[in-house]
Amino acid sequence: MLAPAQTDNSASLAHLDLEQEITKLKREMNAVILAHYYQESEIQDLADFVGDSLQLSQQAAATKADVIVFAGVLFMAETAKILNPAKLVLLPDLKAGCSLADGCPAPLFKAFRERYPDHLVISYINCSAEVKALSDIICTSSNAEKIIRQIPPEQPIVFAPDQHLGRNTAFAMGIPLDQCVVWDPFMIMGGVTPDRLRRARVILWKGHCSVHQRFLPEHVDKVRERYPDIQVIVHPECRFEVCQKADGVGSTERLIKIIKDAPRGTKFAVGTEIHLVNRMGKEFAEEDKMVITLDDSGCLCTTMFRISPQHLCWALENLVEGNVVNRIQVPEDVKHWAHVALDRMLEIH
Ligand code: SF4
Repeated sequence: MLAPAQTDNSASLAHLDLEQEITKLKREMNAVILAHYYQESEIQDLADFVGDSLQLSQQAAATKADVIVFAGVLFMAETAKILNPAKLVLLPDLKAGCSLADGCPAPLFKAFRERYPDHLVISYINCSAEVKALSDIICTSSNAEKIIRQIPPEQPIVFAPDQHLGRNTAFAMGIPLDQCVVWDPFMIMGGVTPDRLRRARVILWKGHCSVHQRFLPEHVDKVRERYPDIQVIVHPECRFEVCQKADGVGSTERLIKIIKDAPRGTKFAVGTEIHLVNRMGKEFAEEDKMVITLDDSGCLCTTMFRISPQHLCWALENLVEGNVVNRIQVPEDVKHWAHVALDRMLEIH
């Protein structure tokens, strides 16, 4: 009987020690910890800022911190470095990648881009620094529509690397599906006929987020069968068929706001990363709102999950000892052109 109680107690004491240690090290190094919305609660509790990748990088720029420890994935830490070139940026685990960004390797993207010199290249912020540098403008899931609306209708577009965000956004703006074609970088001529390519307004890079693509239209039907009055809201990285069935589609910020603004007693099934959904489930239960995942088997971002308090502590401890580990570096020319593409978005945002 006694043993489990002792184990629980020692685990929570160990966590408290770790938390105190991280807070102390952070102060010593004038560092800030940025945590993405998809991180676990124990990481978010240690963070100075919690948000999406762009918000976090911008908040970091506004602080006087010398060091940014990014509890997120590689492309986010790179964006932080691009927007904060004078600060030291660390990613506690360099293996924290992203299936979407990794599905768009820069050499392949460069070759693709060179085939379409007359197209305007819009890249979702979830891509590598190199791909950003090869793009004309960057967008996020909250401003993609606003950015595409600025582009004259006769101007053809390349949208990368998330085909779903590109298609969902284009369709919501009235661009028909037959004017969006998918370019598969591993097929001859992208797997598209020259005629279709000529007629297309938007060429979509064949990429996806492994977390959001898992949601299926059947999940929407199933949850509605179980809770007929439920609201289904999903992230635009989900498949077109899922977004079409949903009651609402929006960025992480937007999804949170929809739930926040809803009357007491509203039920939501949310198609996004499981840690965020579970946290909202707990928080909004206090307002008598039910928030559950759209898919019972749950979709976690496994790469984001690689960041642990122990990794954070290790990176900071090393820094205090004068040993810089997992430093994010972006070559100067890449940094320059990626910044140009990001700035174009920020001017419109
Ligand atoms: Fe990448 Fe998807 Fe994870 Fe976001 S949720 S970091 S897009 S794999």
